[in-house]
Amino acid sequence: NLSDKLNSVFKKLKGQGTLTEKNIDDGLKEVRFALLEADVHYRIVKQFIADIRERAVGADVLESLTPGQQVIKIVYEELTRLMGETRQDLNLTGQAPVSVMLVGLQGSGKTTTAAKLAVYLKKQGRKPFLVPADVYRPAAIDQLKKLGSQVQVPVFASDPGMNPVDICRQARVAAQQQGCNTLLLDTAGRLHIDEALMEELVGIKQAVSPSDILLVADAMTGQDAVNIAQSFNERLDIGGVILSKMDGDARGGAALSIKAVTGRPIKFVGVGEKTNALEAFHPDRMASSILGMGDVLSFIEKAQSVVDEKKAADLERKLRKNEFTLEDFRDQMTQIRKMGSIGDLMKMIPGMGKVKQMKDMEVDDGQLSRIEAIINSMTAEERRRHAIINGSRRKRIAKGSGTSVQEVNRLLKDYTQVMKMVKKINKGGMRGLGRGMMP
Ligand code: GDP
Ligand code: MG
Repeated sequence: NLSDKLNSVFKKLKGQGTLTEKNIDDGLKEVRFALLEADVHYRIVKQFIADIRERAVGADVLESLTPGQQVIKIVYEELTRLMGETRQDLNLTGQAPVSVMLVGLQGSGKTTTAAKLAVYLKKQGRKPFLVPADVYRPAAIDQLKKLGSQVQVPVFASDPGMNPVDICRQARVAAQQQGCNTLLLDTAGRLHIDEALMEELVGIKQAVSPSDILLVADAMTGQDAVNIAQSFNERLDIGGVILSKMDGDARGGAALSIKAVTGRPIKFVGVGEKTNALEAFHPDRMASSILGMGDVLSFIEKAQSVVDEKKAADLERKLRKNEFTLEDFRDQMTQIRKMGSIGDLMKMIPGMGKVKQMKDMEVDDGQLSRIEAIINSMTAEERRRHAIINGSRRKRIAKGSGTSVQEVNRLLKDYTQVMKMVKKINKGGMRGLGRGMMP
């Protein structure tokens, strides 16, 4: 699926210490295929790829220390933007009682969604009122009544023979009498869009001036859902879309295209048949779930805040000149705290990602604070010249830091090991190694 495809592209990009325009283009070609295969509108794919490319081949990305990660970050941001950037909730402004009108083709999920929204509104402390305005299928009214009693929300009792406009008008009055402030209008659908249906819906819209009109579209139908949204929007000027059946094996194309094609946001997604299977739609969360990384957000935060590029460059310079003192070691530890492990940090330095020993040096939080305490208990001179730390100094440091001599010994051993490695690398030339080792 889309997530798997994008993930494999990103793995390749992330593994590369340096990126070229060619690397990026190869990666983007795969992203393009993945999106088309997910049934995203081709025009949108084209623009999307062009936008990403423009940002990705920018000098500051290619020259950054983590170009692969920067590209992933750009894709994530552009995906979020494509889907509308920020969460759009129901529009419930206007004089109470307000109405929310649900429209869509037959079987798209309107009636089910009406009940789901009733549950959602109730949780927000509102008093919903379900209105059966689908008069063509008697079963539709029964379906809504059943759902209403299930979720304990009143359903307007219409008389047989009433037309949809009268039902919606009278439901307003009834809602007020029953102390309800939010009407959910469950309108009729057809198998295909036709003029009679549109006229009926326009009639309801004019009669009750709903605060929000939501198109319920079946995510499984991919681009059809997008076309349907466009048609309904042209006639009704909808406020947003609810994509139903996202729990099925929808390919994601509709979710990615609707906002860009229609200009209308997705407000909710339906993720099951039950009345609680409705989720608020958040473009950023959707983007991270499409990218298949639950942790993409924290990952990006890491790329942004911890990998302060200047600091990393500074560190590289110090390492190269063998000037990496215990003090630097301690500062790095503080950074590592935010990162998880020393291996992660070292991977950010060009060339270091490949050094096997680094990966084995995982340290936990408790250990880190002890290491910090030990270094803090040293004199400035000791931190600069670790060689002078003899037995009696070790005892003093252990006592001062509330640790043991063994721990002090281990820290010094770790540090000298790092320094040995650094010196070895420096002999070969850090730069040369950094670039040369990359595929
Ligand atoms: P309507 O004709 O637009 O009112 O559609 P319905 O509400 O009657 O739903 C049609 C079918 O789709 C029913 O079997 C629902 O249970 C099912 N359905 C609606 N929403 C979802 C959803 O989000 N996920 C799944 N899996 N099924 C849904
Ligand atoms: Mg229905």
